[in-house]
Amino acid sequence: MTVRFASLGSGSKGNSTLVDDGESCLLVDLGFSVKETVHRLARLGKKPVDITAILVTHEHGDHIHGVAPFARKFDIPVYLTHGTYQPKSMGQLPVMNLINCHRVFECGSFEVTPVAVPHDAKEPCQYVLRSSGATVGILTDLGHITDHVKSSYSNCDALLLECNHDLEMLEQGPYPAPLKRRVGGDYGHLNNHQAAALLDAVDLQQLDHLVISHISEQNNQPALAQAVVEDRLSAWSGNLQLADQQSGIDWVVVK
Ligand SMILES: [Zn+2]
Ligand SMILES: [Zn+2]
Repeated sequence: MTVRFASLGSGSKGNSTLVDDGESCLLVDLGFSVKETVHRLARLGKKPVDITAILVTHEHGDHIHGVAPFARKFDIPVYLTHGTYQPKSMGQLPVMNLINCHRVFECGSFEVTPVAVPHDAKEPCQYVLRSSGATVGILTDLGHITDHVKSSYSNCDALLLECNHDLEMLEQGPYPAPLKRRVGGDYGHLNNHQAAALLDAVDLQQLDHLVISHISEQNNQPALAQAVVEDRLSAWSGNLQLADQQSGIDWVVVK
């Protein structure tokens, strides 16, 4: 089976990643409206009926906005932690699977490892997905790199990694002081250098694809993020891409 992934869009206005092995097609997060999601899926040759399940990382709007409406409209199961489920705003889900963020589970033909991360949400986790010998890691929305994160993401073939902000741009930028503290804090988002530091813990021999993700439009520049990351990858010859808000990224074949 061929394992591949794509992004419908990445950034503070909406996130969603597709991981597909030919048998199951999983959506990780859905921060877009139903209409926008259908449109973005079509760009990648997918229809709502092709989606096996939606995995949710946490309850922030850029990850959850479209989850409940899309799941209801197309009768798609949703996987999320107890703390991430928001009964008031999400309402009834057609099939809700509450997960333990320290326990591996099966979802369609994928083995999914949730990874608890430090972020200012109720019970956030990120995901490592495995199928047919391919490992895809998704890692955004965390304020710092823990040992647990390092070991969980050390053996990926593909990694979508948050490079949210440049520290100097955040400090000089337009955000009010409390928001600057939140974004740059231990439970906020990874800056470019923190993201690059994670790469020291990763087996670069195994890593074939790295996607710079969740780039802030206000507090970062794609070229800045790329330069910082590339600095750590001088001996690496894999495929480096940036996922943006509007286009995400096209399909990338892992194995
Ligand atoms: Zn986010
Ligand atoms: Zn978040």
